[in-house]
Amino acid sequence: MVIPTDGEREEPPRQSTRPDTVPYISSWSREKMIRPPVVRLAGRGGEGIGYLGESPYDRDRRGVLWVRHTLARGKGRPLFHTVHALRQRRAVLHMLCQVCGTSVLDDGPHLFVLRDVGRPVAEGERTTAPPVCVPCARISARQCPRLRVGHVAVRVGRAGVWGVAGIVHHPRTLEPLAGGSLEEIAYEDPAIHWVLACRQVLVLRECTPVNLGDL
Ligand SMILES: [Zn+2]
Repeated sequence: MVIPTDGEREEPPRQSTRPDTVPYISSWSREKMIRPPVVRLAGRGGEGIGYLGESPYDRDRRGVLWVRHTLARGKGRPLFHTVHALRQRRAVLHMLCQVCGTSVLDDGPHLFVLRDVGRPVAEGERTTAPPVCVPCARISARQCPRLRVGHVAVRVGRAGVWGVAGIVHHPRTLEPLAGGSLEEIAYEDPAIHWVLACRQVLVLRECTPVNLGDL
């Protein structure tokens, strides 16, 4: 699956439909995504890409290389169309509401609001969307540009980490593949050593559709 890269896209001009809530996972203009040149390294599990002079923050707990995204939340202008890589990862791993950033761990089955793709959310559905709390679900459905055109809401009994969405590099030339688009790669896939991760990917199980108006 190929996902459009939204990493460096600038915000369109102010319009009357502009959201007035800045989601926790949105980037701000003072936060910069940095992609240092990648090199071939002998790492955990074999050869793969890496940075020269890596810091402990450059890899996740499974040893996968991540883009660098500076932290300056609330500084400059909100970039509603640009997801902050580290806050998305934090929200997914710790089950934080993607809008207000508070924990939804005690809310029972986690609530997810996904873009409507014309079919029900399947068992084992993959997503890069973190969960939402109930009040923020209504806000995101109303204000998020991606969800305003159509959304589905589900309660999820089990949400597990599946892999990452990132830019896969050719093992020999180290050139980005798929035109630099984000591809979803499972942690068990050997290509995981050659991916520069930009998003954490979850797999959703025990999904029950819900109507946001009933919550
Ligand atoms: Zn919330």
